Amino acid sequence: MKPLTTENYKFHSHKECEFFPCHETADSEAFNCLFCYCPLYPMGKNCGGNYVYLENGIKDCSNCMVPHKKGNYDYIMTKLMEYHKQLREEGRL
Ligand code: SF4
Repeated sequence: MKPLTTENYKFHSHKECEFFPCHETADSEAFNCLFCYCPLYPMGKNCGGNYVYLENGIKDCSNCMVPHKKGNYDYIMTKLMEYHKQLREEGRL
């Protein structure tokens, strides 16, 4: 593979999506849809995002922009790798 000169794979904004932008934002141009379904959700309280737990136990991410912020690709991938390492160490992966 030749060396990359761009990082376009880290950002995708799907403006034709009927739900775009699915979270309130002042800057829809920088809204990243790449992690539409947040891969950090299974981390529960350790995801590092702006969640609340509802009375019924459901984690509500309505106010979280962590997976949608342009520039957060590396943060998401680092957290995912940490999570997978933890799962491996616990014998759950
Ligand atoms: S959307 Fe935010 S609060 Fe919800 S799991 Fe992802 S990082 Fe955590």
